[in-house]
Amino acid sequence: MCRNKLLIPDLFKLYNNFVLYHDRNAKYYYDNVLTGSTGHGKASDCVYCGSCEKVCPQQLNIRQLLRKVAETFE
Ligand code: SF4
Repeated sequence: MCRNKLLIPDLFKLYNNFVLYHDRNAKYYYDNVLTGSTGHGKASDCVYCGSCEKVCPQQLNIRQLLRKVAETFE
């Protein structure tokens, strides 16, 4: 469990939809549904502890990918 309550799979899904399909609502969705007042952290709130990567079934480089998400939406 991410200490900053990042919705990691949802953030990656949103990022993919934005990059692949140019989803125009992605920024709004990022700010208002996946982060912000919802209590879930932004991609830039990742503290790079690596806990999520230890249990990731796909062995993704989550920390590196979250940097891309932050660069895209913040
Ligand atoms: S590396 Fe980032 S996303 Fe993963 S558990 Fe730690 S704070 Fe959360």
